[in-house]
Amino acid sequence: MKPELLCPTCGSTDIKKNGTTRRGKQPHRCRDCGRQFGQNPRWQPQFSDTKAIIDRLVVEKIPLAGIAPALQVSEAWLQQYVNAADTAVPQQVAGTPKAPQRFNVQMDEVWAVVADKGNRHCRNSKALESFTAQHF
Ligand SMILES: [Zn+2]
Repeated sequence: MKPELLCPTCGSTDIKKNGTTRRGKQPHRCRDCGRQFGQNPRWQPQFSDTKAIIDRLVVEKIPLAGIAPALQVSEAWLQQYVNAADTAVPQQVAGTPKAPQRFNVQMDEVWAVVADKGNRHCRNSKALESFTAQHF
């Protein structure tokens, strides 16, 4: 019965053996996250720690391109993990752009007034000036 290998980074059991070295060590490679590691009998699963670290780094807005090599995971896996994790960066829903819309309507009204007055444009451009001063 062969012992089941676990990826130290992501906990996957989809581990590929990378041949055998002369010293009898068997390098392994995780097919899920790309982590390479040797077989270590004293080895303990640490993937939950790694994920906790990733969560913290992501919250601190560290680029994934920097996290991946530091934690020895592939960028593709990291991106996948971040996308899947609901604890990742909270979605910042942008406020509805009501203010600019309202402002545009007001500007249209001002320009309409200016156009309506025709010959008295000069007087109204003064009003437009004070309007602009108030709103900018
Ligand atoms: Zn892995």
